[in-house]
Amino acid sequence: MGKSFDIGLERLTGIGVPGDGQPQEGGIKPPLHDAGRPFSDQGKQEADAVGSTFYLETFGCQMNDHDSEKVAGVLLARGYRQVDGPEAAKVILYNTCSIREKAAQKVFSRLGELRPAASDLRSVASEEREPYAETPIAKFAQDKQRTRSSEEKRNPSAQAGVPVPQDPKHPSLRKIVNAGGGKIIGVLGCVAQQEGEEIFERAPWVSLVCGSASYRKLPQLIAELEAGNRRVTGLDTDTDETFETEITRRDNPWRAYLTIIEGCDKACSYCVVPFTRGPERSRGSASILEEVRQLADAGYSEVQLLGQTVNSYADPSARNMRFSELLAAVAEVSGIRRVRFTTSHPRDFGKDIVEAIEAHPTICDHVHLPVQSGSTAVLRAMARTYSREEYLEKIALMKAARRPISITTDMIVGFPGETEKDFEETLTLLDEVQYDSVFAFKYSPRPNTPSLKMADAIPEEEKGRRLGILMDRQREIQRVRNEKLVGETFEVLVDGKSRRENQWSGHTSSNRVMNFTSPEQELLGDYVQVKVVSAMPNSLVGEMVGR
Ligand code: SAM
Ligand code: SF4
Repeated sequence: MGKSFDIGLERLTGIGVPGDGQPQEGGIKPPLHDAGRPFSDQGKQEADAVGSTFYLETFGCQMNDHDSEKVAGVLLARGYRQVDGPEAAKVILYNTCSIREKAAQKVFSRLGELRPAASDLRSVASEEREPYAETPIAKFAQDKQRTRSSEEKRNPSAQAGVPVPQDPKHPSLRKIVNAGGGKIIGVLGCVAQQEGEEIFERAPWVSLVCGSASYRKLPQLIAELEAGNRRVTGLDTDTDETFETEITRRDNPWRAYLTIIEGCDKACSYCVVPFTRGPERSRGSASILEEVRQLADAGYSEVQLLGQTVNSYADPSARNMRFSELLAAVAEVSGIRRVRFTTSHPRDFGKDIVEAIEAHPTICDHVHLPVQSGSTAVLRAMARTYSREEYLEKIALMKAARRPISITTDMIVGFPGETEKDFEETLTLLDEVQYDSVFAFKYSPRPNTPSLKMADAIPEEEKGRRLGILMDRQREIQRVRNEKLVGETFEVLVDGKSRRENQWSGHTSSNRVMNFTSPEQELLGDYVQVKVVSAMPNSLVGEMVGR
């Protein structure tokens, strides 16, 4: 098996994406415009007739991806048609992420590119000001910029304040706003929630600002824009509603995402999610199970239950199902072959979840259980609500399971006050747990979070050094673990086809990426048996041996 094949597909997975986006799934994502379920011809004709088109770009985690699927569903139900570039769109929407500074900056960069020429701008704003110059995130970024060490200043690639350089993939967006006029530009998600109406002040060309806790209002907000309102907002976080839509436009034809709990009540000291997504709200179990049945009828065989703390699920209905009971009920829906769930919080992870996995082969043998640090002192400062020892007790539950469970995690290096000894403890945790994958991030100070004011900030360079050491150590662990799988056979859901002849890729139940050979003509969406012939740190290489 050629090495280049592995690298080509492996790039889509990765152990930890330093300082970058959320955990990303491997596999090949089908293009947005042709991968989803078909919509009614009538809806399409209406859309073509009105010429109402939208472009939706998503930043951040799987929850954002899935929110975007629902937002697209809302627009499609109103007769809009999705296009795959902003040039052709009447409505341009950015579903944003602010979990780390770099993610938030990407959105500012996009909005900066859409800024109309100064002469056009004067017609929509009474005065011209530098965009984002005074918004909370921008001020925060600029303060950081001012205090950057002289060493960082010498390094032009170091993280800097806004605006960030223009993305070469979106070279001339400014032109399309000038030339096209009349476009509706909307900011959704975490940056919208964080910046609020300040976005209008500094970017008068934006007309919709809506945080994820208010997505229920989206149809109404869009209707107001259609009726001629120039600016609309949805910024409440005190809602107990979840965002359910009649139509969800799903991007993946095999795996369907389902949000079962929104928001977060955990208040980790470094995290913006409780501010941007609001308090925890769970969806009723009957409505979840009904949707799973509909998905199975529509041909989906894999469902992934989503929540920032998915296992903190609390059924609001009279059935009062525990998370583990819901997992089991989903696993029993006829036609469903794989059930995944993410992200679990260690505090609410108990034996009942492991027992559900043991009892139901359809529940995948993979648990993502973010630890963040191996040091109890750092965990306390992070307000993670568990110690290293308590976390290891949860790991022991999984290690004792009757079938092997693949364990993955998130880690943050360089949290304020993290000593060399604390960091050593994170490294020894890697050795002790033997994770199958780790998403590691440099600590990124975020506005409004308690850790922002903590003493003993770790210099960027030192964070980078620790991240490099952690990733090297973990890569070696994965190499050794994956090599032990050579000769074993796994069921793989095929979700990618390489340009090279006979080369395919898919995921095992444990969520490992498997690149494999098969002379078959069409395998996408099939479950096949693949024997591992060699292993890389981030993926396995195999050959199909049956169905
Ligand atoms: N709710 C999940 C949990 O607590 O395990 C994680 C959700 S969070 C959106 C995804 C990951 O981003 C976290 O597990 C953490 O590792 C990372 N993260 C969150 N805030 C961060 C920050 N300020 N700096 C660096 N990484 C951060
Ligand atoms: Fe953020 Fe902590 Fe909530 Fe996860 S549990 S979303 S890290 S506050």
